[in-house]
Amino acid sequence: MVRLRARLARSQSSLGQGLLSLLSSDTLDEDTWEEIEDTLITADIGVTSATQIVENLRTRVKVLGTRGTDEVRGLLREELLAQIGGDTDRTVRTEPHNGRPAVIMVVGVNGTGKTTTTGKLARVLVGDGRSVVLGAADTFRAAATEQLQTWGGRVGAPVVSKEEGADPASVAFDTVARGTEEGVDTVIIDTAGRLHTKTGLMDELGKVKRVVEKKSQVDEVLLVLDATTGQNGLRQARVFAEVVNITGIALTKLDGTAKGGIIVQVQRELGVPVKLVGLGEGPDDLAPFDPEVFVDALLE
Ligand code: GDP
Repeated sequence: MVRLRARLARSQSSLGQGLLSLLSSDTLDEDTWEEIEDTLITADIGVTSATQIVENLRTRVKVLGTRGTDEVRGLLREELLAQIGGDTDRTVRTEPHNGRPAVIMVVGVNGTGKTTTTGKLARVLVGDGRSVVLGAADTFRAAATEQLQTWGGRVGAPVVSKEEGADPASVAFDTVARGTEEGVDTVIIDTAGRLHTKTGLMDELGKVKRVVEKKSQVDEVLLVLDATTGQNGLRQARVFAEVVNITGIALTKLDGTAKGGIIVQVQRELGVPVKLVGLGEGPDDLAPFDPEVFVDALLE
């Protein structure tokens, strides 16, 4: 896993610099508080959270009579952590149970980084000595299957696939069947993300999940969201949340944005924790989401 802190700090330093210079201004007056709020909103933290953070911060600064930059920074850190949920369980369930592999479904709109995240996650698990089977259930594009096969070859995980146009649910079923027969630890199923119509998506993903559940429980449904898409990503997340029971979010492309604050909004809206973050296109560019490291990078 990558050095999350250094990588995040690089992508988000503009936000940190902005906030810190505001916090160190001599007078924390009305305009400064407003600017702090605007800076947080610019980072995609969301109006509700930004307002709440600034309101709490103002009250605390007043009560404590604090003015020192470091102290205010410390309070802001606490408020951000409170919004992100510092104590939330963010474990990705990858352990086999009852003689069956853990089953993870990876869902999300095309282009968000599903296949890449599937490959990277497999890499982490294989690196930890686990056995993994991947399922190429995005059968609508031959390229998607090929891409997953490339990842499988790269990280040492076999890939179950079928011809283009095959039923995604049958690929998912066969993947779980193979994983169970071979006694592997974890099965990861990469699904199609065509957001054509909500009903279509619902039918497709719902069927994949139902069919898998004939064989095994689904332990984790990871929604992949592209951090650079801001509000649009949030809308997509809502649609998926209506369709399947999401258990965690993998936020990708955090390396390409200073708007990582979307993490706060996504969790708040969906009530689902961000568990993984993508920080690049390479096989090692996946990290577990650590709120403290994230907030420190935001404020660096
Ligand atoms: P899918 O259609 O959802 O399966 O998306 P892909 O896995 O094919 O990814 C789409 C593009 O995003 C590819 O070019 C990936 O290399 C790139 N990508 C995925 N995750 C990340 C990330 O964390 N950071 C960056 N910079 N690029 C990423």
